[in-house]
Amino acid sequence: VERELLKLRDLPAQTLDGHRMRLKGNVEFIEEVASVHKHGGEGIGLYRTEMLFMNRGTLPTEEEQFQAYAALVKGMAPQPVTIRTLDIGGDKCLTDLDLSDEMNPALGVRAIRLSLRQPAVFKAQLRAILRASAFGEVKLFFPMVSGVAEVRAAKAILEEVKEELRGTHPFDEKVQVGIMIEIPSAVVIADLLAAEVDFFSVGTNDLIQYTLAIDRTNEHLSALFQPLHPAVLRSLKTIVDAAHAAGIEASICGEMAGDPEYLPILLGLGYDELSMNAVSIPRVKKIMRRCTLQEARTVALKALSFATAAEADAYLKGEIAARF
Ligand code: PEP
Ligand code: MG
Repeated sequence: VERELLKLRDLPAQTLDGHRMRLKGNVEFIEEVASVHKHGGEGIGLYRTEMLFMNRGTLPTEEEQFQAYAALVKGMAPQPVTIRTLDIGGDKCLTDLDLSDEMNPALGVRAIRLSLRQPAVFKAQLRAILRASAFGEVKLFFPMVSGVAEVRAAKAILEEVKEELRGTHPFDEKVQVGIMIEIPSAVVIADLLAAEVDFFSVGTNDLIQYTLAIDRTNEHLSALFQPLHPAVLRSLKTIVDAAHAAGIEASICGEMAGDPEYLPILLGLGYDELSMNAVSIPRVKKIMRRCTLQEARTVALKALSFATAAEADAYLKGEIAARF
């Protein structure tokens, strides 16, 4: 089975009628680049930079980060690497940044909120990412954005960093800047956010957690962590529609992207790109290559019509069994 799936590596990620949707890999360690290549990923859609910061006594310097990002970009070139700025806090803790004990860490000082409060740490990371963009296509994006003010503040700091680098270090002036959509407020104002950035990437893990108020790490609630909950599916539609209305792309980099059962919905809703654990790419591609865009649109529309996740799940499982 593994060998059969690997044969898919060199076949294009497209539907029977030739519609393309890029499939990329999620990466936490540089060593995983090999797996992205092995499984036919068209780049890295999410590089989680947290691992560079965790399990160590001090923060990584700009130079250390630059070395890591540049190695990743060179290893993946000419395909693009999408680098997420630090998403520490909540389920990902860090002992060396002074995070006070919080009653609700998932709702606390984390991710972009932390970066905006620690501009020196944020700037060092942005400098390192920009410098790495001299070696291949880099896109950068910010996690846990809840509103436009945060995006503007982050972009203002990015501009300062660019200005500092001009004349001293080469970097890609046109590096694309995006945001994670993973907080319900960002879904509601997706049109406003789309006007500020170059792309959206949906973090379904957190989007489901915050939309349904289900702790993503609480195993007693796992049955209620429902990707097919109508509130989640409607959110996914709102996001991609807002992106396309503004002329920007939308991708998904949460776990939902790597589950073949959900492929027809995500394809049918019009997502431009899915990024997942690299080993899932062949299975997802296999389903994509067996349907037309129109079929996927029909499935997506039907899936959106159910009142409960269980009904949508039964419908999708039936479709996959019968048609794919
Ligand atoms: C997500 O929230 O879906 C996501 C991709 O980010 P993380 O799992 O790192 O929070
Ligand atoms: Mg997240």
